[in-house]
Amino acid sequence: MERRESIIESTMNTLAGANMDIDLVTPAGQISWSQEKCPWNAREGSDPHHCAVKNISICQYFCGVEYPDTLLCCFPDENPYRAIS
Ligand code: SF4
Repeated sequence: MERRESIIESTMNTLAGANMDIDLVTPAGQISWSQEKCPWNAREGSDPHHCAVKNISICQYFCGVEYPDTLLCCFPDENPYRAIS
């Protein structure tokens, strides 16, 4: 793990201000990979919540993305990154 982190730190740029569009609400059958459900939507039995909506908003529980497409979500707990930003 330590080697992986040192490779990442030595090769990656961190670029702020990305205008992302990310969600976990694509209906089954419209994509060819499996997709887990947003826990907030699952609790409410609906699908209004999106992780990041381009040009509009980022969910209060959104904590980033891990390569290549794993969402980091803190729902239902407070977002730890918001406390330090
Ligand atoms: S960040 Fe979490 S709670 Fe927010 S929309 Fe995405 S999966 Fe749902």
